[in-house]
Amino acid sequence: MVEISKHLFEKTCSDVHCSVLLHPWNRSCWTSSIETYKSAFAGSAKFYILIHLVQNLMKGKKMLKRKELMKAGEYYIRSTILGALIAGSCSSLSCLLRWLLGRKFTYYTYFLIPNTINGVFILLEPPKRRGLVINLFCNLVIEFWIRLLERDGYLTMTKGKQTFMFMVGSAVLFYLMRLEGESGKRTPLLWLFRPEKVRQKTDDSKIVCPHDGPCTKHILKGVSSYFGIGFAFTMARVLLPRISSPLKALASVRGEHFKMGLFFATYIGIYRAVVCYLCRKQGYDSAMYALPAGYLAGLSFLFKPNLGFAIASLTGAFKLYSTILYEKKILPENIPLPLMMYCFCQGLLFHSRNVHPDICPQYVFKLTDSVSNGKSRIVFKNLLETVKAAM
Ligand SMILES: [Zn+2]
Ligand SMILES: [Zn+2]
Repeated sequence: MVEISKHLFEKTCSDVHCSVLLHPWNRSCWTSSIETYKSAFAGSAKFYILIHLVQNLMKGKKMLKRKELMKAGEYYIRSTILGALIAGSCSSLSCLLRWLLGRKFTYYTYFLIPNTINGVFILLEPPKRRGLVINLFCNLVIEFWIRLLERDGYLTMTKGKQTFMFMVGSAVLFYLMRLEGESGKRTPLLWLFRPEKVRQKTDDSKIVCPHDGPCTKHILKGVSSYFGIGFAFTMARVLLPRISSPLKALASVRGEHFKMGLFFATYIGIYRAVVCYLCRKQGYDSAMYALPAGYLAGLSFLFKPNLGFAIASLTGAFKLYSTILYEKKILPENIPLPLMMYCFCQGLLFHSRNVHPDICPQYVFKLTDSVSNGKSRIVFKNLLETVKAAM
């Protein structure tokens, strides 16, 4: 795939009509927008139904209550409107900027600026979900930067370096989660598991561990259930696409399909074993034990190295840390920093989807192609053809 530099874009695309680079389905900016927004609504509705379904299923039985169902429906509609507005307004804003600049495209007003501006639609998501989306986009931008540095030869991400990142990230993340557990408030965060709260020392209780019952039972229970979750997750991914021929699909199960389960199981197993050991040795529980426990648990990453996971552990820790900074009033609350960060990330990622396709994270392709209902692929194809024809 070609990399489209600023120079190349402005040489080949500046004077091209916006119907070629933004709305090939109709030449008029006005009439084309009907089709653009219609596709965006359809794509967004399809994209979010799966995501919301999975998230609600994970919440279990309590979702069956009428009030919860109503809320889930409302959130789904809000997400759909969000996706549709972003996918649709990207084209409208870009057309508008082109018109304002004397019917000329520039490298930054094509996708970067329109998608930075329409990032404010993220306010449609309720605050709890918004935080998770912002977190995800930050992870994707870091992944993009790492790939950029790797491509230009400034950095090589070895398995060892990624493992180290994950170990440090896990250590800090679990430590901050346990600290936060003491105050009772919880920052919304998607992570493999939540460590148990620190047990306060009381005179009448002889239990020193953060859990009730024997340690081995506690550790083994974590290991077996997390192995199950990891394995079920892999199986769903292997079997679902081949649901029409289940026997063939089952025959394709290999040793590597156990890796996710092993990763989850050893992660929680090592963490719990180290915390229990330290509690018994010292005779009391402390949030600090999460540091060595999380660090060693990070070794399980070797079963399933994944750059995305390594980045997520570090940004998750950073997110918890920023909550502390907000509470201590070190970060100002009147400036919408998370919103600004989201807008910046979204602009950069959707820009890179078209001009740096070789290093843009795969998830961004999936997201833009589904939410625009395939329209982004048509636009990208036209962009490549325009650039190639003029070269
Ligand atoms: Zn237009
Ligand atoms: Zn224990």
